[in-house]
This record gives sequence, C-alpha cells and structure tokens, in this order.
Amino acid sequence: MRARFVRTVLLPLFVMLAFMMIVGFFGLEWARQRVDDAAVAQQEKTLQVEISNRQRDLAIQLGSVARWLPLAQKLHEVPLDRTWLWENVGTWLYEMFDHDDVYIVDMTGALIYGAVSGREADGAEFGKVSSAIAPVVASFQPTSSSGTSSSTSGTSTVFGRDTSPGVSAAPEEDFTNDGPRGSQRVRLMLLDDRPAIVTARSVVSARSSSQSLDSAFVAISVAYFHAAYLEHLAKHVGLDALRYSRSPSALGSERSMALHATDGSDVGYLLWTPVLPGTQMARVIGPVGIGTFILVILVSAYMARAIWLSALLLSRSIIELQASEAQAQHLAYHDVLTGLPNRALLNERIIQALGHAGHAGQGEQMAILMLDLDRFKHVNDTLGHHAGDLLIKEVAQRLQLLAGPSDTVARLGGDEFVIVQSAVRDRADVNAFCKRIVEVVSDPFELNGNNVHVSVSIGVVTAPLNGMEPGELMRKADIALYAAKAEGRDRHTYFESFMDDRVRVQRAIGVDLRSAVKSGQGLAVHYQPLIDARSQKIIGLEALLRWQHATRGAISPGEFIPVAEETGIILPLGEWVLREACRTAKRWPDIFVAVNLSPVQFRSADFASRMIDIVAQENCAASSIEFEITEGMLLSEDEASKAALEALRAAGFRIALDDFGTGYSSLSYLRRFKVDKIKIDQSFIQNLGGHEDTSAIIESVITLGRAMGLTVVAEGVETSDQKDTLVAAGCHELQGYLFSRAVSELDLEQLMALSEPNADSSLTEQAPR
Ligand code: C2E
Ligand code: CA
Ligand code: CA
Repeated sequence: MRARFVRTVLLPLFVMLAFMMIVGFFGLEWARQRVDDAAVAQQEKTLQVEISNRQRDLAIQLGSVARWLPLAQKLHEVPLDRTWLWENVGTWLYEMFDHDDVYIVDMTGALIYGAVSGREADGAEFGKVSSAIAPVVASFQPTSSSGTSSSTSGTSTVFGRDTSPGVSAAPEEDFTNDGPRGSQRVRLMLLDDRPAIVTARSVVSARSSSQSLDSAFVAISVAYFHAAYLEHLAKHVGLDALRYSRSPSALGSERSMALHATDGSDVGYLLWTPVLPGTQMARVIGPVGIGTFILVILVSAYMARAIWLSALLLSRSIIELQASEAQAQHLAYHDVLTGLPNRALLNERIIQALGHAGHAGQGEQMAILMLDLDRFKHVNDTLGHHAGDLLIKEVAQRLQLLAGPSDTVARLGGDEFVIVQSAVRDRADVNAFCKRIVEVVSDPFELNGNNVHVSVSIGVVTAPLNGMEPGELMRKADIALYAAKAEGRDRHTYFESFMDDRVRVQRAIGVDLRSAVKSGQGLAVHYQPLIDARSQKIIGLEALLRWQHATRGAISPGEFIPVAEETGIILPLGEWVLREACRTAKRWPDIFVAVNLSPVQFRSADFASRMIDIVAQENCAASSIEFEITEGMLLSEDEASKAALEALRAAGFRIALDDFGTGYSSLSYLRRFKVDKIKIDQSFIQNLGGHEDTSAIIESVITLGRAMGLTVVAEGVETSDQKDTLVAAGCHELQGYLFSRAVSELDLEQLMALSEPNADSSLTEQAPR
C-alpha cells in the first residue's frame, strides 16, 4: 500500500510541484529579463534622441546667429567691434543656450573672434582645439565639395551600442543641407580629451545670400558633455545618474552606450545604472512567489499526509470489515466451541452430497451418521461444564482426523455430531467407518487430570436408499440413533423402516393419551406402600400411573411417560395424579402419599404455586404429600427450579430424591438443594449379595444420609435377605415387591387393613406378590 501511495499520490504531487517551481522560476526570470531589456533599450533610445535633439538645438541656435546679416557685416569691419561680438555672439550663446565655446574663424582657419566659457578667448586657448576643429573648417573651403551629400556624410555623428555600432541616431540631412541660410556641420569629437558636440556654420553675407562660396567666415560652437549637461540629460531621460568614461568598463549593473564619431573614431561611453522594472517587479513577486510556493508545499504535504492517514484508516477499516464479515460468515456456518460446521452448513453439505449421489444413481452412495455420546451428561455433571466442553472439543478433533477430505463433520449442539460420509461404495465402507468412530471415541479422554471413558451411539441413514430429502434423512438418522441407544449404546445402527413404525406408534400413543387424559378412560393411579423399617407398618404410598389402552392393553409408565413428557401431556396428567393422591391421602390421614414429578412439570411456569393450589383445593394437608424428584432436576442449576423446590418445601411438602445413585456421583448438590429423603435406586438393592456386591455403596449412602439428617429409603426390595441387610444398615423405609406391588384403589382398602396396628400378621407374609 505504501508503494502504491508513493506511486499514485506522492510522485505526481512531487512532479507537479517541481514543474510548478521550474516554470515559475524560469518564467519569472524570462519575464524579468524581457522587461529589463525593453526598459534598457528604451532608456538608450531616449538618450540617443535627447542627444540628437541637443545637436539639432545647438545647430539651430548657432544658425540663428550665423545667418544673422549684421554678423557678417560686423566681421568685415576694421577694426573689429569686439564689444558687439561679445554681446551678440560670445555671451549670447553661452548664457542663452549653454554653448561652452564659440569661435569665428576665416576660411583659412585663423581665429577672428573667440569666447570660452563666457569669457573672450585668446589665441592660446584656441590653439588647444584648432587642430581638431581644422578639418571641420576645411570642409567649408570652396575647394571642398561642400553642399554635396558626400561631404556631409563625413560630418554626422553616429551613436550606437558597443555591440551594434552601426545604429545611427542623428538625422544628418536636417543639419547639413545648404541653402540660403548657409551650410552647417555637426560633429561629436574629443576636444582637449573631452567629448563635445562641435557645430559649425558658415556665416551668411548679404552679397551672396545664395552662395556658400561667398561665406568668408565660419562660426563654430562647442558644447561639452560636462557634469552639468550629463546631470541635465539624466534627469530628462529619467535616470538616477549618468557618467562619461573613455572605456566601457561598467561598475556593477551599469549599462554603457558607445559614442562614435562618423569616422568611426572612439569618442567614449555614456554609463548609467539602469532603471530595471523587471528586476523591481521580480523583487516584489519573488518573495511572494516563494512564500506562495512554500505554502503550496506545506498544504500539499499536509494533504498528502491526510490522504495517507485516511487511506490507512480506510484500508484498516476495510480489513476489519472483511475480517468481521469473514468472522460473521464463519460464525453463521460454524460451531463456536469446536469450529466445526453447524447445522446450517451441514444442511448445505448434505444437499451437495445428495447432488452427487443423485447423479450417480441408486443404492448407497452417501451416508449420514448421527452421533450422540453416551453418558456425556454424566461427565458434565461430575467434572463440570468446562470438562464437558473439553470432551466435546477432543471428540470433534478425533472425528475430524478420522473423516476423509470429502466428508463433513458437523456439530448440532450438546453432544450431538453429524458426519456426512460421501463417496461411499457400499455398506462395508460405512460399517468400517462407524467401527473406527466407536473405537476412537472409546479410547479414554484425559480431562483436567481425569481419565474419562465415554462411548458413542450412531444412527445411520444412507442415500439414495433411505431417501433424497435432507430433512427426511436427518429425521430417520435420529430414529436410528434412538434405536442404537435402546439397543444398548456404544454401537451404530442403520435405519430400518420398522423404526419409523415405532415412532408412528409412539405418535399414536401420544394422540390416544391426550384423549385418555380428557375422558379419564383407561387411566388409573395405583399405590405401592412404603414400609417403616422398624415397625414393618405402612407409613406411605407411592402413587404410580397405570394406563389400560383400549386396543393395546396395559402400557407401562416407562413407555408412555416419556411420550407424555415430549407432548406436554404430562402437565394435565401430573395434576390429575396429584388430585387423586390428595383424595387417597385424605382417606388415610396417618400416612403420606408420594407423587412423582417430571422435569417437564418442574420447568413449567408457576409450577410450585399450581401444585400448592391443587392440594389446597382438595383440602389436603401439605404434610400428607411427598414429591419425588430425580437428581437431574437438581443438577440443572436453574434458578427457577431451585425457587420452585424451596417454595414447595416452604409450603410444607416433603421432597424425596428418587433413583438416588444412578449416574451421578457428586453429592455436593445435596448441600445446595434441601431435600427430606433419598430413595436408593432399586438397581443397588437388586445387586445386594450378587456378583457386584453393592452393600458397601448402600452402607455408605445410608451413613451419609443419616449424617445429613435425611430419611433413607430403599426401593425395589424383593427378598427378605435384602430387607434384613437394609434394616441392619440403618435404612429408614423400605419399598418393593417383597411387601407389595402397586395396587388399585380398590385393592388398597384390603392392603391397608392388613397394615392396621391391631393386625398381627406382617405385610411381607400376606401381601399379594
Ligand atoms: P419410580 O418412580 O422409580 O417408581 C418405582 C418403579 O419401580 C415402579 O414402576 C414400580 O412398580 C417399580 N417397583 C416397585 N417395587 C419393585 C420391585 O420390588 N421390583 C421391581 N423390579 N420393580 C419395582 P412403574 O410403576 O412401572 O413406574 C415406572 C416409572 O414411571 C416410575 O419409576 C416413575 O418414574 C414413573 N412414573 C410412574 N407414575 C408416574 C407419575 O404419576 N408421574 C410421573 N411423573 N412419573 C411416574
Ligand atoms: Ca418414584
Ligand atoms: Ca425410583
């Protein structure tokens, strides 16, 4: 991402900024030079024009004197009227027009009159300049072809830069044409090593006004480039300062302009520090531009950083989003504990596998194995939920190791797993696979330092044999699993159609049971006595349901109670049993009646208050009723169950813990849930004195129960030996076929009579067996 950012954002930005900087810098520099050059050229041109103007002015001014007729006349007078000449020529041109020197010479070049810087000059002063001026004077002599263009061309002044000396700035015709006013010469030259404009004009005489030849005198004026003139010139052109130098060597940023005479001789240079508007502009624009550029760089850097950060943020949140999407996706299709596919994904896999199986034709091409761990609840209850979770994870791992790459191992929840075995060739494949599963699960598990043994029951369906509809196949696998459990667990059982029939029968039983509860037809409560171990007298009766089905005959509670629980019929049925029990209890006020409670009842709403209400409605004392609950109800750790139990005890009912010792070895719950009685399960009693003698267990349970202040009951007592052992061990109450089976209400009368205090025969001798 960093490289991409550099490539797509930073590099273009950098290139753009660099381009901006280069274009900005060179553009400004180019514009500055252009403007400066134009300004300097303008200044130079103005200088040239000014000097040309000066030359023209000098010529006109000199001309105004030279063509004045009285001058020619005065020059012919002898002696010379010097005062007149001083007033009208010497001081006039000097004071009025700033001509420095004025000379009047004859055609031989001899000085007639001269004035220098406003004073009358003598021959010596003229001598300093005479040789330089001589050629000018000579050009007026009749022998020379003055008046023609060839003679005039050599007298004009040429200005030019050092670099292009050919540029002419003096329009010579204006000053050289001959005519009635006489001819004139203007020259730029060095006089006495000083640059000067020398203007010469023939003095016009009256006699031959049209012939220059007639001129006997030449008037010459000299204007130097002295400091005052240069200052004046600079001011006019708009320059700070102007100086003259013989050499073009400039100081600093000075520019120079060459002064040339027409003959090409070097007259020197004018030098000045030019006004450079471009540079001035650049000086203003430069810092502003640099500041702007720095600002642009800073803003760009800031923006690049912002882009980078938000891109980073964006990519991070995209990654997070993808991750959470993937996670959500995973969660939607996987079990959290094991990471295995869940029911939703399993369903898809089954559909996929069925797709392949369906294409392949008939027979057994894929199998669905429904697994349920045997005695998982036991592990959960004895070692805790954490150990239970560990066991599930470990089983999941073992199953996955066993499964092939095309198989799917899924967890439905609890200890239920499903394996979809695809690519099955025949039943032998499925058999082998199931046998391996049973084997690996029966290997002990190491859970929190405990060696735990579990087994697994597997219900198997195959497709297309058992169907092609996922829901149907799962239902049949469930039935097969049920059958595997019923057949003794730790095995796999294939679905057979008769199993479906059994389920159908159970469903029919459910329907019949519901109508039986409604009509009261066929249902009865029988009573089995509980005997006091010491007096051998009946002290209680256990209410046990009996159902005489119209067509199927007697159905055992072991068969219909689970159906009643599954269908919820147990709720009205249980209430009905309780009412029956109350009536019986009222008939024999000295004894109690024990009523069995199903966990389903326990979990129903307002359970305790309903039981209390029913007993109250039947006008029965709570102390006459005992409720029998199973250990599972206590283990659920459910607050509602606990509250219901406490409410019943608070209302005066006694609670007996039924089937004590089956499956659960933890007694810690007895401290948390108060009960009054424990009924040792009949399996322990029946094994008394057998191969696996349980007497030690029974003795310790009795000791424990007594220590906790509980009444201990032994159920399923069938022999006198069992009875004797139990009595000797300290058991409080006994129940079993030895004393009586459960009898109908009718037979109860007779049974109770036998147990009357004055009856002298004991129940064990005379009760029906
Ligand atoms: P349970 O509560 O353990 O009831 C004792 C079972 O042991 C009864 O079987 C009883 O007939 C039988 N039994 C008693 N003495 C002996 C003996 O000496 N030897 C042998 N082998 N068996 C003996 P039953 O009547 O078939 O009841 C089975 C189970 O059905 C009961 O077991 C109880 O859990 C349930 N049940 C019966 N009636 C009700 C009821 O009204 N409500 C609820 N929720 N469950 C009931
Ligand atoms: Ca019972
Ligand atoms: Ca029991």
